[in-house]
Amino acid sequence: MASNPSKETRAQVLGRDQHRCVVCETYLRPGQWPGMSIHHRLRRSQGSGDDELHEASNLISVCGMDNSTGCHGWIHQHPNEAVKLGYLIRSYDDHKPSEVPMFNQRYGWQLLSTDGQATPCKPPTPHKEGPTK
Ligand SMILES: [Zn+2]
Repeated sequence: MASNPSKETRAQVLGRDQHRCVVCETYLRPGQWPGMSIHHRLRRSQGSGDDELHEASNLISVCGMDNSTGCHGWIHQHPNEAVKLGYLIRSYDDHKPSEVPMFNQRYGWQLLSTDGQATPCKPPTPHKEGPTK
């Protein structure tokens, strides 16, 4: 398996996200502040053996020069919030990235397919705590 997304997949992801950071809607230009990067929702270290790891369903366009700046940095610094918004997928949830909704600031909740499509979907059901009545 490849250790990085292919050029084609990166182009597919940027096209799907309209070259905007899915978290803050900033238009992304290569080489310009705040930078652009491709974030792995299911982290590489967690996803070994997962066939979607470098597929479009696991990748989102975010601002930031690396994983410590911009929204890319925010995601890694706020894992709990990022999980709620679908930017991070916990390995033990045992869900494929294509089955986990992701919140795009511009388009709302989306399901991302492995072939680079984004489909509008309902927000994920929050985990209920205790009785609901
Ligand atoms: Zn951003």
